[in-house]
Amino acid sequence: ITFADLALSAPIQQAIADTGYTAPTPIQAQAIPLVLAGGDLMAAAQTGTGKTAGFTLPILHLLSEAHAHNQKAGRPRCLILTPTRELAAQVEESVQTYGKHLPLTSMVMFGGVAINPQIAKLKKRVDILVATPGRLLDHCTQKTIDLSGVEILVLDEADRMLDMGFIRDIKKILALLPKQRQNLLFSATFSDEIKTLADGLLHNPGYVEV
Ligand code: AMP
Repeated sequence: ITFADLALSAPIQQAIADTGYTAPTPIQAQAIPLVLAGGDLMAAAQTGTGKTAGFTLPILHLLSEAHAHNQKAGRPRCLILTPTRELAAQVEESVQTYGKHLPLTSMVMFGGVAINPQIAKLKKRVDILVATPGRLLDHCTQKTIDLSGVEILVLDEADRMLDMGFIRDIKKILALLPKQRQNLLFSATFSDEIKTLADGLLHNPGYVEV
């Protein structure tokens, strides 16, 4: 299987070519068609497998092919939750890299840094938001963000988020999202707690394991 087989749009194929990747990794080959088809996904994948491109590439494709219903400043169409600021920054870097030929915008937010620059950024259009749960909830409380336009939700490294005690924050965030949306869950391990979270979150998910 090649990237050309995956039916990603030309600007995305170009960004992939720019990176020098020659072929999709196994998780990409399996996950990308499922995400492009619009379904929910549960993926068992460790860091280093290429999982980030596995969800970022098809999300960029879906968002660029369909217009937002109600595009407004501070109203993201895709929310990617990660356990740590380092991972959030890496994921947003990937969004930038793979989306560089597309007119989509992204933002990363995490705690431990000043909130005002984040509030300023949310006064502009943000298509893809990468966030850690605590700081995102702070913005929700302050009403500096509007999650009612989220079409796609990603929980990246969901097992680590649960280990770090983010389950309550995640549940509060889920309650603020529209019911009709696509959900992607990535986890290295599958404990009973992850399975319970997945059962409540995912509808007829496709399963991918590498
Ligand atoms: P990840 O598992 O998402 O953290 O990605 C691990 C590393 O693999 C990153 O440095 C990516 O740039 C790289 N990578 C992702 N997809 C591919 C690919 N198809 N071919 C070669 N390298 C890749």
